Amino acid sequence: MSHEELDQLRAKLDDKNMELLKLLNERGNLVKKIGEVKSKAGTKRFDPVRERKMLDLIAEENEGPFETTTLQHLFKQVFKASLELMGEDEQKTLLVSRKKHPENTVVNVKDTLIGDGVQKLIAGPCSVESEEQVLTVAKALKERGISLLRGGAFKPRTSPYDFQGLGLEGLKILKKAGDQYDMAVISEIVSPNDIETALDYVDVIQIGARNMHNFELLKEVGMTDKPVLLKRGLSATISEFIHAAEYVLSRGNTNLMLCERGIRTYETATRNTLDISAIPILKQETHLPVLADVTHSTGRRDLLLPAAKAALAIGADAVMAEVHPDPAVALSDSAQQMDIAEFNEFVTTLRESNLLKDVAAKASI
Ligand code: PEP
Ligand code: MN
Repeated sequence: MSHEELDQLRAKLDDKNMELLKLLNERGNLVKKIGEVKSKAGTKRFDPVRERKMLDLIAEENEGPFETTTLQHLFKQVFKASLELMGEDEQKTLLVSRKKHPENTVVNVKDTLIGDGVQKLIAGPCSVESEEQVLTVAKALKERGISLLRGGAFKPRTSPYDFQGLGLEGLKILKKAGDQYDMAVISEIVSPNDIETALDYVDVIQIGARNMHNFELLKEVGMTDKPVLLKRGLSATISEFIHAAEYVLSRGNTNLMLCERGIRTYETATRNTLDISAIPILKQETHLPVLADVTHSTGRRDLLLPAAKAALAIGADAVMAEVHPDPAVALSDSAQQMDIAEFNEFVTTLRESNLLKDVAAKASI
């Protein structure tokens, strides 16, 4: 074949591409019109019976050289793209999405703002074990100008034989500490039945990683106006996490914070893998404050500081870490909690490194 012949064939191919382009867009315009009619009539955009008929017709009329299965695959892609053209982009409609709500949501937790651009620390013991233990930690935090105290009263433990938490008694201890030191308290609730009681004791309801998929619990907290801290599930994708958050907002509660706490991967050097890039992704895709729990993600005391630095540098609105007066005898997570001296060092280093510019930084490094 001569060069001229090849050029002629290529020119014809270019023409066919342009014809296909025109036809695809003409088809797209028709699809959009159909979408408008369907939207007015309130009928579903996806019609599997009609799609099957179109695919059958393609099979009947196909004269080659393409295989019918190849063509059906290509047309299926066209149908899929058309459906997207017909319907709204789901992200646009999700209440948690930034497309729906471009401004940052700032959650007011007993007058401490989370998501206002000033990064915060949240700290406290893994489990509430006694009044003395919680008050000791609360005092230490208060002295460093930290006003967000965490502590678990209902503990979702891997083994039913491990310490399950003090329950209501634990919530009472937290409230006492919160009142005494004017701090906000954060505690996990694991059952929809306990939400109502918890409202009187805590300032933030935490939904733990193991309950991210407990949709009844999410709906129940969604019906309150209490700030909620939702943790990412152990094996949840970012999309699943975002949809879990949507459950809370869909019931009316917009006081929601997301918390990356590490996901399960094949890596065994850390307890979980801190998915650091999830933080800016969640900040881009949603308007909610995004927190990083450095304790449960790393499971290693020696990694708390570098992980906190990374989380703050990448834009987390707050960092959460566990502190216990005597970690060696802690009833849960003994290997990863800081004692008070270590915590003080942790706070000082973060403030001195200029990574944590929280309100108290100037007052007390
Ligand atoms: C906790 O914060 O006390 C806790 C149990 O964390 P997670 O749900 O992330 O495991
Ligand atoms: Mn813990």
